[in-house]
Amino acid sequence: SAGRIAFLGLGHMGEPMAVNLIKAGFDVVGFDVVPAAMAAATEAGVPCATSAAEAVTGASVVLTMFPSGAILLDAYRGAGEPGLLEVAPPNTLFLDCSTIDVAQAREAAELTVAAGHRSADAPVSGGVVGAEAGTLTFMIGAEESEIEQLTALLEVMGKKLVHCGGHGAGQAAKICNNMLLGISMIGAAEAFVLGEKLGLSHQALYDVISTASGQCWAVTTNCPVPGPVPASPANRDYVPGFAGALMAKDLGLALNALEDAGVAAQLGPLAAQIYRKFADEGGAGRDFSGIITDIRDGSQA
Ligand code: NAD
Repeated sequence: SAGRIAFLGLGHMGEPMAVNLIKAGFDVVGFDVVPAAMAAATEAGVPCATSAAEAVTGASVVLTMFPSGAILLDAYRGAGEPGLLEVAPPNTLFLDCSTIDVAQAREAAELTVAAGHRSADAPVSGGVVGAEAGTLTFMIGAEESEIEQLTALLEVMGKKLVHCGGHGAGQAAKICNNMLLGISMIGAAEAFVLGEKLGLSHQALYDVISTASGQCWAVTTNCPVPGPVPASPANRDYVPGFAGALMAKDLGLALNALEDAGVAAQLGPLAAQIYRKFADEGGAGRDFSGIITDIRDGSQA
């Protein structure tokens, strides 16, 4: 058998992912520090332990879906109590699916390997809808030798798996993509606001961009104005979708990576600043395409 999976972090993403593993026949034991999250997961059919250590004891895979890398490193090392790297049986696969700093992902992998275990980072895109439907994309950073086991697990929760390279490469790919997404959404929003000021209809501009060289996901799938793409969040008052808080988080991670890597980027840091402000000033729970409202409101009359 595949052995037991300790699934830690049963939040918006973790709970439906754990449910899909159970539906596929995997032996899963969950844990979350928030009792309400555990109660909801139990209700959804995820058996839960009373501590992370209890979930990890006897597991062959430790799958984490946490808010941050600091939380991950604390859990691995133990903050006041024995860490998970110490508690887990030798050669456990530590599979982190959270979105965290590339540097922290690499540090987590080093600690894991030094403790006699195996490591993989596999952050996701696709959001809660993808987690529930089992259609996430996983960006994998792992040794080639882990891919067979990872595929068996991840294909249950996702429909697209991309092996991006060694430890940390999954996180690297995720933040590069999301940095481009943040930048391109701001660009798309600026283009539509300029079009409005110049008297263009949304549909006319959409018809051009969607078939011309400005074509991008931010326009053709997540169009920031209502009308041309009926399923885009703009048509439902910017209910996410992909929330502003998460875009701000991911651009913060991109900013850290740009600084660590010494890249002379200008638009990435600017996009990080723009989305931090958006999230802090009411956009945290709105779709990130709602940035168009700020651009329109800030326009000179
Ligand atoms: P969430 O806050 O809903 O879930 C995180 C869970 O981890 C919470 O329930 C929290 O109580 C739990 N937790 C924190 N510390 C813990 C610990 N030490 N032990 C056990 N549980 C602990 O967040 P989410 O939306 O599920 O996102 C999880 C991760 O996935 C994040 O890194 C996020 O950036 C990433 N992500 C989210 C989405 C999305 O649409 N929500 C999309 C892609 C990636």
